[in-house]
Amino acid sequence: MMTLDKKVEDLKVLFSETELQSKIKELATAIENDIPEDEEIYVICVLKGSVMFCADLVKHFKHPIQMEFIRISSYGHETRSTNNLQAIDLTLPDLHNKNVVIVEDIIDTGLTARFLTDLFKIKHQPKKLLFVSLLNKKCARQIDIEPDFFGYEIDDKFVVGYGLDYKGYYRNLPYIGYFPC
Ligand code: 5GP
Repeated sequence: MMTLDKKVEDLKVLFSETELQSKIKELATAIENDIPEDEEIYVICVLKGSVMFCADLVKHFKHPIQMEFIRISSYGHETRSTNNLQAIDLTLPDLHNKNVVIVEDIIDTGLTARFLTDLFKIKHQPKKLLFVSLLNKKCARQIDIEPDFFGYEIDDKFVVGYGLDYKGYYRNLPYIGYFPC
């Protein structure tokens, strides 16, 4: 029996499934327009939060694509970011001189985005590196970094659903919502 302090019935929907799907289609087009048609794209899905977003995004791509997965965690089970990035699983092919698109669920403080961007630039030296995030919590930023593409700018509230979790739950919701105080 699950004993979770926040219930799905209390969630307020921020972005419905329909809204998300149409935004994602727009984002896919914008990203593809930035990369020559005949060139491969290496899509890097940042687990676990971007799993839904990434899966839906790539369905729209017409370029030849390869999908890779990495895991990095800055959160634990809390609803605030910590400065410690932990648990990184990185097994990637050689991305030197490739078009690389990093796909994130949300940029909050910017620490993860900075870490990933620096890592890919320095270690892999891709031909082109694009960072796309479905959500952008600009007001919570501690590091001066912006994604190349994002879906929605949101206030500093903790959101769940569509890959984003609360204590490991709610990733499976097809929409994004928040728990009003
Ligand atoms: P940052 O390094 O930018 O502070 O945080 C990035 C990671 O923190 C995201 O990939 C996500 O996993 C987590 N995160 C940030 N804000 C939220 C939020 O509102 N809800 C959830 N569920 N996770 C968040």
